[in-house]
Amino acid sequence: MHELELFSAVKANAGLDFLSPLHKVLTSHWYVMGNEVRSFENEFADYLGVNHCISVANGSDALELALKALNVQAGARVVTAANAGFYASSAIYAIGATPVYIDVDAATLTLCPKALAAVLDSSIAAVIVTHLYGQLADMEEIVRLSSAAGIPVLEDCAQAHGARRNGKPAGSFGAIACFSFYPTKNLGALGDGGAMVTDNHDMAARIRQLRQYGWGQKYQVTLAGGRNSRMDEIQAAILRIKLPYLDQWNEQRRFIAKRYNEAFFKFNVLLPCSMAADYVAHLYVMRLANRRQFINVLKQKGIKTDIHYPIPDYRQAAYIAELPYALTVTEHACETVVSLPCYPGLTGDEADRVITAVTAYFEQEG
Ligand SMILES: *Cc1c(COP(=O)(O)O)cnc(C)c1O
Repeated sequence: MHELELFSAVKANAGLDFLSPLHKVLTSHWYVMGNEVRSFENEFADYLGVNHCISVANGSDALELALKALNVQAGARVVTAANAGFYASSAIYAIGATPVYIDVDAATLTLCPKALAAVLDSSIAAVIVTHLYGQLADMEEIVRLSSAAGIPVLEDCAQAHGARRNGKPAGSFGAIACFSFYPTKNLGALGDGGAMVTDNHDMAARIRQLRQYGWGQKYQVTLAGGRNSRMDEIQAAILRIKLPYLDQWNEQRRFIAKRYNEAFFKFNVLLPCSMAADYVAHLYVMRLANRRQFINVLKQKGIKTDIHYPIPDYRQAAYIAELPYALTVTEHACETVVSLPCYPGLTGDEADRVITAVTAYFEQEG
């Protein structure tokens, strides 16, 4: 039996015509930030219903430049969760700011509004919310609390392209939002790519400068802190081909996740809590005891799993930090999470194989 990958960006790409857009770019002889990039930015902004989309080289650059666009200075304090793979922390450290880690909600594993309310004061410069695994965080409450304190919210939507609550998409709640188009994301290029979206005209103008040397016009540096972070024409052309399929691919992901939830709810595991439009099943993550044993049993049956993510940000070897309080949900999540294969193109038979293997495990292990 063939091995089941955890991710397969290849399957969603199958059958799409990528040669025509490649040919178009090759014959245009314009390779970086041209018409394809401009068109993709407009189309993605329209898809999200926001005023501006500014593309960059990858999602990590987007987070870092977004903090700069929000005017977060070196030495500032930025609230974030510690269970989301260190991407937000990496951007916070890159600009010389300090992360303030708070706990996540036990059901969604996204930033807990109650924990946020407890730390929000005038020392906080921004809040970064990650819509982890494709689950939209409680943005209504987080934005309400933050706005009342005059603090901007940055959404990390790198796992949540197309997630919506009451029709309102991830990326349209905060002051600014960041996306990654890494190949395995819900909307993925054939290489690296990223973007920021915002409704604010001034902020959009600052970001356009920050991604290209701080230039106001060619060779005139009028904004400090700029550098080079641009999207290729080829990647933008590919993303334009793929964007119209995003909603149906998310539907396919959610369909697989629903089948898993229906099959596993009777076992002693914690499952993704929403199967509605606010969850786009970037990852299907269960929480269970004896994770090692579970992973080994599935591996023997040719099913790959992974752990998103095993180490809380404040325990990463290069950035060990003592917290003044324990983040109990975060700690427990890092010890118990396991991701199962869930992506568009995973066939019904393949999902059955996962269900059979997981069911057999729990029926034996109790
Ligand atoms: C993938 C990811 C990023 C980083 O994106 P890159 O394009 O790989 O730099 C940031 N945040 C989250 C939540 C991600 O999943």
